[in-house]
Amino acid sequence: MKTPYLEIDLSKIHDNAKNLNAMFGARGIEITGVTKCFLGDPRIANAIVTAGISSLGDSRIQNLIRMKKAHVNALFTLIRTPSASEVHDVVMYADVSFNTELAVIAELSKTAIAQKKIHTIVLMVEMGDLREGILRKDLGKTIEEVLQMKGIQIIGLGTNLTCLNGIVPTQYNMDNLSRLAKMYERIYGIKLSVISGGNSANFNWMLEHGNKSKVNNIRLGEAILLGRETLSRKPIDRLHLNAFSLVAEVIESKVKPSLPEGKAGQDAFGDTPIFEDKGEMLRSIVAMGRQDVQVKGLTPMIDVDILGSSSDHIILDTTTTPLHVGDHIRFNLDYAALLSSMTSPFVESSFI
Ligand SMILES: *Cc1c(COP(=O)(O)O)cnc(C)c1O
Repeated sequence: MKTPYLEIDLSKIHDNAKNLNAMFGARGIEITGVTKCFLGDPRIANAIVTAGISSLGDSRIQNLIRMKKAHVNALFTLIRTPSASEVHDVVMYADVSFNTELAVIAELSKTAIAQKKIHTIVLMVEMGDLREGILRKDLGKTIEEVLQMKGIQIIGLGTNLTCLNGIVPTQYNMDNLSRLAKMYERIYGIKLSVISGGNSANFNWMLEHGNKSKVNNIRLGEAILLGRETLSRKPIDRLHLNAFSLVAEVIESKVKPSLPEGKAGQDAFGDTPIFEDKGEMLRSIVAMGRQDVQVKGLTPMIDVDILGSSSDHIILDTTTTPLHVGDHIRFNLDYAALLSSMTSPFVESSFI
């Protein structure tokens, strides 16, 4: 296997999905498995679907198309508001899309009529985090206008919290979302059957209070893949934290000083490094850098320290655990590291 590569344990992902599905299923909450982090790779998608999660969501239509073409058997939701320029594919390949803009919904409507389909949508509501969402005061008017459009059916409301400004899901904002759903069901005589409360940051709230709420859907990416909720990044009981690891190869290993020599300026990325004189150390270089992965999201699985990185190199202090040229070293990844290595053309995947 060429290095660097991501080692992906499908049975651990499957276990995580199964455990989460049991936890939330017991509370009447449906999980939408979020696939964007792995670009809709059908092998990973199938590990999730066969665990009983039959609803998948992705922010990129390309990833939904990839899964659909590979015959992954699930309901597919586009969880980013569509671009007006992609409505043809959205109606063709997504069963549901999340929306916030009437101009785009009007395009979806035209396209749905042309494709002789009913396209179902969830309206995203702004509940405080200020990423996507219709303002609460504008929601009624928006629903009223969408109800006039042919080929479109509103099936629910959703919200996204924490991603942009770290605004936390609480009883208050979740109750507000439920209240809006009940109110507009009554006013317009519609059924809002999907109330999607948020992402892996909603894990704790949904598990504790979801059974008493109208909120009945949670969109989980990181929780399934890395086994953590994302408000405090605490591990979730019984889940695997190491379904993914990144393997890279040592290309240089030499005893060198810890202090650079000469006058210091900026590094390749515009930062000014700070050094500490620790005397001589064994410095090992792995053939992997910022073009492969977001290095600050890596944790070596053996006792070595990351000293720094550039586009194509990571430099390790391997004094306590000597490494040799040709050795492979394994890293744990956080979400940013996983996302970046999955999308790097230089990193291959190896499945176990
Ligand atoms: C990425 C994304 C999610 C999943 O987030 P995780 O933190 O990985 O659970 C959920 N909803 C939306 C709208 C997203 O873009």
